[in-house]
Amino acid sequence: MKKILVTGGAGFLGSNMCRTLLAQGHRVIALDNLYTGYKSNLAELDSNPNFEFIHGSILDHQDIWADEIYNLACPASPPHYQRDPVYTWKVSTIGALNLLELAQKTGAKILQASTSEVYGDPDVHPQPEDYRGNVNPHGIRACYDEGKRAAESLFMDFHRAHGVNTRIVRIFNTYGPYMDAGDGRVVSNFICQALRNEDITIYGDGKQTRSFCYVDDLIRGIIATMNADDTQVEPINIGNPVEFTMIQLAEKVLGKIGGSSKIIYKPLPADDPKQRRPDITRAKSVLKWEPAIALDEGLDKTIPWFKKLVTQV
Ligand code: UDP
Repeated sequence: MKKILVTGGAGFLGSNMCRTLLAQGHRVIALDNLYTGYKSNLAELDSNPNFEFIHGSILDHQDIWADEIYNLACPASPPHYQRDPVYTWKVSTIGALNLLELAQKTGAKILQASTSEVYGDPDVHPQPEDYRGNVNPHGIRACYDEGKRAAESLFMDFHRAHGVNTRIVRIFNTYGPYMDAGDGRVVSNFICQALRNEDITIYGDGKQTRSFCYVDDLIRGIIATMNADDTQVEPINIGNPVEFTMIQLAEKVLGKIGGSSKIIYKPLPADDPKQRRPDITRAKSVLKWEPAIALDEGLDKTIPWFKKLVTQV
C-alpha cells in the first residue's frame, strides 16, 4: 500500500484517479482548491478510511508527505483556463515548482500532467514526443500552453539538477464520467446540447480534428507511467490515436441521443488547433499501453453521466 497525493483530486481526471488508486488498495490524499473541481465528484469516497480530502492550493507550500504525487491540478478546458489567464500561468508554473520542492524534500516520486497543447497548432501530424510544437507564445491559449511547457522544463531540471524522480505525461483530449457539464469542451457541449434539444454548436467549419480518449484508458496510461522504470523521465503521449472531425463527432452524438437539435456553426476561437492526434509509439513500447475503448463505446458510457447532470438542473 502506497500513500499517494493527487493534486486537483476533485476534478475530472483527479477524481477518476482517486477512485482507481483507492480500488488498487492505496491510501489517497486529494488536494484541491475547488477552482474548477467539485467536492461532489468525491462524494462516495468520504466514508473510505483510506481517503482524505484537503481543501488547499498548490500555489501555497504544502507539507504533505507521500510516496507519490500526481500533479493533476490546473484548469484545463479552454474557457476555464482563459477565464483568469494569470492564475492559469501561476498554477502551471509556481504550482509545479512548489510540488517539485515538496518532492525534493520528501523523496516522493512526482508525475506532471502535461498536455497535447505543448504542440500548439501542430504542423507535424500525428505528434510524436520529439516534435517541439508550434505554439503562439502571445495568444489566448499561451497561458496554458506555455505554462505547461515551462512546467515540463522545470520537471526535467529538478530531475537533472536535484535527482528528483519525475515523470511527464502529455494528455490528449479525454472524456468520460465526472466531466463538468459547463466546462465548454466539445464533448460535454455536444452531449448536453443534444440532451436539452438545443443547437449543436460547431466552431469554424467543423473540419478540425481531435482524437478522444476515454477516461479509464487515460488513467491506466498515467498510472503505468508513474510505475514505469525510473529511467522513463522523458514525456510520454497518452491519448487515443483515432481521429475525428468535429462534424463527425456531432453526428455521432446526435445519432446516439436523437432529439430535435440542429447543427449550427459559430466562429472558430483564436489559435484553435486544426488537427491533433497522438503518436503513441513510445507508450506502446515503454508502457505496453494502448487505449481499449473506442469512441462509440466511450460515448455510450459517458452519456448517462451527463443525463444525470442535465436532469438535476
Ligand atoms: N468546439 C466546437 N464546439 C463546441 C466546443 C468546442 O466545435 O461547442 C471545437 C473547438 O473549437 C476545437 C474542438 O472542438 O476545435 C475541441 O475543443 P475543446 O474545447 O474540447 O478542446 P481543445 O482540444 O481545443 O483544447
